[in-house]
Amino acid sequence: MHYDYLIVGAGLFGSVFAFEMKKRGKRCYIIDKRKHSAGNIYTKEQLGIQVHCYGAHIFHTSDKMIWDYIGQFAEFNHYINSPVAVYRDELYNLPFNMNTFSRLWNVRTPKEAKEKIAGQISDLSIKEPENLEEQALSLVGRDVYEKLIKGYTEKQWGRDCRELPAFLIKRLPLRFTYDNNYFNDPYQGIPVGGYTRIIEKLLDGIEVRTGISWQEFLREEQDISYDKLLYTGMIDEYFDYRLGALEYRSLRFETQELPDEENYQGNAVVNYTEREVPYTRIIEHKHFEFGKQAGTVITKEYPAEWNPGEEPYYPINDEKNNRLYEAYRGLAEREKNVLFGGRLGMYRYYDMDKTIKAALKMAQREA
Ligand code: UDP
Repeated sequence: MHYDYLIVGAGLFGSVFAFEMKKRGKRCYIIDKRKHSAGNIYTKEQLGIQVHCYGAHIFHTSDKMIWDYIGQFAEFNHYINSPVAVYRDELYNLPFNMNTFSRLWNVRTPKEAKEKIAGQISDLSIKEPENLEEQALSLVGRDVYEKLIKGYTEKQWGRDCRELPAFLIKRLPLRFTYDNNYFNDPYQGIPVGGYTRIIEKLLDGIEVRTGISWQEFLREEQDISYDKLLYTGMIDEYFDYRLGALEYRSLRFETQELPDEENYQGNAVVNYTEREVPYTRIIEHKHFEFGKQAGTVITKEYPAEWNPGEEPYYPINDEKNNRLYEAYRGLAEREKNVLFGGRLGMYRYYDMDKTIKAALKMAQREA
């Protein structure tokens, strides 16, 4: 059998690309090493609840075009992410906003909060923050940094905040209003019926083979030929790590069904910001969909070191790794008829909306 594209990885990037190319009359064959499609946005039903099997995925975007695009494949509910942070026996609202500050310092007005922060950083002379610690301190002061950022970030990334790039923390909004919405984007929600259904719709009419890795496919499959390859796995793995290995961060999930517990924590996302608690957050999935089920399902998320052969979740976009990635990108550009896409293929900390946008762009270029 001959195809226009062989796509390695049936996650969001590969699936959007396949859908777009099919629309343009191209034939795609898509493989995935996991037993299911949908990559890390895979959801499955447990106790009548859509469980985010590879960590919480909240769709949010500022791009109306992307919002309309994803809207073709699912109806989105009105979920707004408002995590709660637990530090020892203290509870705070996230992202950092007036609710957080008033709880911390008993202040009421934005002016008082700003004065408090300014007072905490007056002795530091940070002009251009050079790492995450300096960035966080200069934005929110010492108390917030020490209670809500330092421990969480160091366990999440497995390294000291002074060795992490400042941009990681820029993902987190800071505002001087009483607004607990974690995202600044105007469009946000969770797809009714789960994310897997979106992928199924994208892949409708496309041949998908799961449970086969790229290496197995190369070894075992002789009957399928193709003009072009889209590879959405790790770019360094594709090149057999010939320039060295890129670093990733991994995660381990511990999911528990609690059939007799109706409401475990009262919120979808609760972060544990102290270093001593081994997990970063507990997700209670039913709250993503305002679930009224009798039981509940929770997932503890443990950050983990990544070693070859394990699941990579986050690229570590510090200078050293970005430089190495650029070298791989150089190799990729010289590789004939091979495209690289997605978080792993492009070594980028992409959110879902950016992933879709990049896949659409690639499809347009190919057309
Ligand atoms: N972060 C933090 N405290 C928190 C939540 C997040 O310090 O309670 C920081 C941390 O550095 C983290 C970054 O913000 O790496 C982004 O976190 P987010 O939860 O948005 O990332 P995700 O893992 O969901 O992509």
